[in-house]
Amino acid sequence: MLPGLGNFLRSARFDAYLCADCGNYQLFATTEALKKLAESKKWFKTIVRNDNSTKGDS
Ligand SMILES: [Zn+2]
Repeated sequence: MLPGLGNFLRSARFDAYLCADCGNYQLFATTEALKKLAESKKWFKTIVRNDNSTKGDS
């Protein structure tokens, strides 16, 4: 588990979407939850680092 993620998941609220055609299921964090995520600096840095690594092939 990533640092702070457990606390985030316990306190955050999500909107859930289930596609009736293909069964695709997605969770979207609410704006309030995203604010809390940004306050968890370790977790935020982890997201940024992963995002950069996907662009590094070119
Ligand atoms: Zn679908």
